[in-house]
Formats: sequence, C-alpha cells, structure tokens
Amino acid sequence: MLKLGEVLADMSEKGQVKLILQGGRGGKGNSHFATSTRQAPRFSQSGEKGTEIEVILELKLIADVGLIGFPNVGKSTILSIVTSATPKIADYHFTTLEPNLGVVKSEYGDSFVVADIPGIIEGAAEGVGLGLKFLRHIERTRLLLHVIDVSGQEGRNPVEDFYKVNEELKKYSEKLSKRKQIIVANKIDVMQNDEEYKKLEKVAKKEGLEIYKISAATNMGLKELFSRVSKVLKELPREETVIDEKIVYKLKEDKEEFSVKIENGVYIVYGPAIEKLMARVNVLDNESLAYFQKNLENLGVNARLKKMGINEGDTVKLEDWEFEWYE
Ligand code: GDP
Ligand code: MG
Repeated sequence: MLKLGEVLADMSEKGQVKLILQGGRGGKGNSHFATSTRQAPRFSQSGEKGTEIEVILELKLIADVGLIGFPNVGKSTILSIVTSATPKIADYHFTTLEPNLGVVKSEYGDSFVVADIPGIIEGAAEGVGLGLKFLRHIERTRLLLHVIDVSGQEGRNPVEDFYKVNEELKKYSEKLSKRKQIIVANKIDVMQNDEEYKKLEKVAKKEGLEIYKISAATNMGLKELFSRVSKVLKELPREETVIDEKIVYKLKEDKEEFSVKIENGVYIVYGPAIEKLMARVNVLDNESLAYFQKNLENLGVNARLKKMGINEGDTVKLEDWEFEWYE
C-alpha cells in the first residue's frame, strides 16, 4: 500500500512508462464458472470498481551545468550569450528570482542544459528560502561553473568570494558542494589589474580546479570555456536516479472493510468490502446469489450480524438491496 508522500515514479528517461494505478479487476464471463455439473451457468461476475489516488506531478528541470556565484558577477549574461535564454540582466543585485535555463549547442554537435542558479547567496542574504526552491532543479547538475567577478570594479575580492560561495553552497547542499567546479573569472574587459586574478589563479591551483578567463559582455573566452564544458560533460556520468523527494499524496484509506448499523430493525451492511462485492454480483441471479452468500460468510458479515443479535427473518440491507436473513 502507498504511504503519504511516497514517490511513485521518477520519470527522467524518454519513453519511460510507469503504471501507478491498477484498474479494478475485470469481470469473469459465465464460462469461467462452468463445472462438470454446471455446463452453462447463468452466473457471471461484473467487473470491480477501480480505486482512486491523488497524484502530484512535479516538473523537474534537469540541468547539466549550473552557474553559481555572487549576484551581479555575470551569470545571467553568460547564460544569455551561450544559450537562447533571455534572463533578466541588471546592474543591481537580486535580479534573478527564477531559475533560468538554456540549451547550449556545442561545436561538436552535442547539446546540454545550463541553469543560472539564483538563491544560494541571493536568498541567503535576503533570508528568503529561495535555496530549497531551486535545489531540485540543480541537484542533478554534473558540473558547476563558479563565476567570479575579477574586475575589481565593485570592490569585490575574488578569492574571498570563491570561498564564501562555496561555504554557502555547502550549507545549501552538501551533495552539490562536492560537484565538479570550473572557475570562471569574468569581466576581464574592465579588469583594472591582474593582481587579484593572479591570487585566484593560485587558489584554483591549490584546489585542483581549472580556471577560465572570460568577458561575457564582450564575448571573450566563452567559446573556449564552453568547448571545455562540453568535453568535461562527456566524461562525467549522469547521476543515477535517486528518489529523494516527497511528491505523492494518497487519499485516506478506509481501515474497516465493512460496518453494520441497525436502523429501524434493519441491519445495514456497508463499507468498501460491500461496495466491491455488490459491484461483482448479480443479485437477481440464483447462482450469483449463492456465490454472494458465500462471500458474506467469508467476509465475516454473517458472524458479525449474529453477534449483533440478528434473528432469522430480520431484514438485511446492502446498498439498495434488501433480503431476509436465514441461517
Ligand atoms: P548575475 O547577477 O550574476 O546574473 O549578473 P548579470 O548577468 O545580471 O550581470 C550583472 C551586471 O554585470 C550587468 O550589468 C552586466 O551587463 C554586467 N556584466 C556581465 N558580464 C560582464 C563583463 O564581462 N564585463 C562587464 N564589463 N560587465 C559585465
Ligand atoms: Mg542573474
């Protein structure tokens, strides 16, 4: 049986099929009930009613590459240049409130999805829970491009920024913080001197990371960077599908299979077991009736009625059908 919040399927492959709800059992024709002495039974069984569940479908964008970094370092600009995505680009912080995705077609003919990841620093600084909202879109990225503004224009310290973002990333997702990174030193067109860049280069070496110098605004170095990205992606395996989110909800389940209540001396039997049974028998047919009686016995309805003090000749009601009870 399903539990509340259980994940039924993770549809990440093209053409994937998953049956999440079995229909009711089909009925059986009368030939099914034929025996040596009952060659042509008039008795058949109707199909069962199906059950219902409520399922939440969640669209999960699967990006191969994630752009991380402080606000205003040029993430959206890079995305808009290398893909046909049109993210908001602005000269102030906190511009990106929705994840932007774009597809890069590489010179080798392959393509991959790049996501501009807001929310790590932006959300943290604002105290908004953006992080978790975006996490699911980026948790399967295979490569992170860590964008750093090395221009020195906004008084940013590239080395500090690098560690700070990684710290935030770790708080945000331990798993993501271990993902492969390439450092992207941006805004070299307006870089005042390369002192800070040199320091960052040392850090890259120390951390064992590749570093690329670019200028998104003037489209410098992007081609080299993205042909490297394309190559790296080919070497990185796609992550196994891990079901770790709670997305499915199920309707409350009826515990009692059937219940009996007495109203004006009539024993009313009801509940899912009865509904199921009534859907499967034809009470106007004698043989069907015999089968039905047997089921009442098996379900424990007769025992329950007796326990409740039923007497022969009392009326029993199941849905809109009434009969007199005899042992
Ligand atoms: P994000 O917050 O990281 O997405 O940053 P944006 O892409 O929105 O860019 C922030 C600002 O930096 C915008 O005004 C961009 O035009 C500018 N910018 C981005 N890349 C470069 C670059 O390579 N050189 C210069 N001079 N400015 C850039
Ligand atoms: Mg942005």
